[in-house]
Amino acid sequence: MAKAGQLISTNRGARVSKPLAPGLYLVATPIGNLGDFSQRAVHTLASCDVIACEDSRTTGRLLQQYGLKTPRIAYHEHSAPGVREAILQRLAEGQRVALVSDAGTPLISDPGFKLVREAIAQNSYVSALPGPSAPLMALILSGLPSDRFFFQGFLPPKGAARRALLASLAGIDATLIFFESARRLPQCLADMAQMLGDRQAAVARELTKLFEEVRRDSLPVLRDHYAEAGPPKGEVVIVVGAPLNDSPDQPGHEDALDNRLRDALTRYRLKEAVAQVAAATGLPRKQVYARALALTGKIET
Ligand code: SAM
Repeated sequence: MAKAGQLISTNRGARVSKPLAPGLYLVATPIGNLGDFSQRAVHTLASCDVIACEDSRTTGRLLQQYGLKTPRIAYHEHSAPGVREAILQRLAEGQRVALVSDAGTPLISDPGFKLVREAIAQNSYVSALPGPSAPLMALILSGLPSDRFFFQGFLPPKGAARRALLASLAGIDATLIFFESARRLPQCLADMAQMLGDRQAAVARELTKLFEEVRRDSLPVLRDHYAEAGPPKGEVVIVVGAPLNDSPDQPGHEDALDNRLRDALTRYRLKEAVAQVAAATGLPRKQVYARALALTGKIET
């Protein structure tokens, strides 16, 4: 007889542990490579009464790999409130419910937050099975500092709203992580170069898949690369370094500011260049404006 917590084998080759306690299980699923699905995740999906999933067909294909027949119910951002109520009711009755998204970790730009919040509020047991997550994988592969990071998720699809949001993030002293569709990548990088300036960045593409690629360079170089090459295929995460140290107290501060301004002035009219550099550096617009006038020879320095 197996002791509590001891691993035993099933006839399907999946390793299983003791029976699951009633509750909600947040199960991460592969973002491309099936080999990343854990034995505990398989056991959990096999043992739950029901799996709440974003897309029944996508999860069905995953279950098929393991010969699992656990019933599924759709739970996604367009689900009626009654669907969440029904899941909470199951939990209250002592059922075991797994929550999965199509790929990666649930709740990370995927459905589940409200369900988890309400399950906690009604004192249901909530547990998570960690596993693949595109933003963390992109961060640790980017070569950028991983000690402080800010996960933005998706940016607005329209240019003006995207630039406004980027401007609001420009002062955050941390590595920034973004999701973006491959189709919009060139335009998004152009906006990032404009609003965040000459920072180091990485585009992580097709993670865990056959054509996994991480392209690391400054935002302007990445912008120029994708402007020429066009949108890549597959899925991408963009990771951007923290603001360059443009503190007025730093040696070389004036050179860094001048370089940014010169770059911006080659592409934009003076007023727009000033606005962008001020947003990217966090420096007062008046100070940047004065420097821009000096650089363009419009007033004495
Ligand atoms: N919850 C998921 C996770 O933890 O990875 C993310 C879901 S979000 C709806 C989907 C976005 O994640 C994609 O648009 C892309 O930006 C990123 N992504 C997912 N899989 C990826 C992969 N294999 N390579 C690169 N980016 C990926």
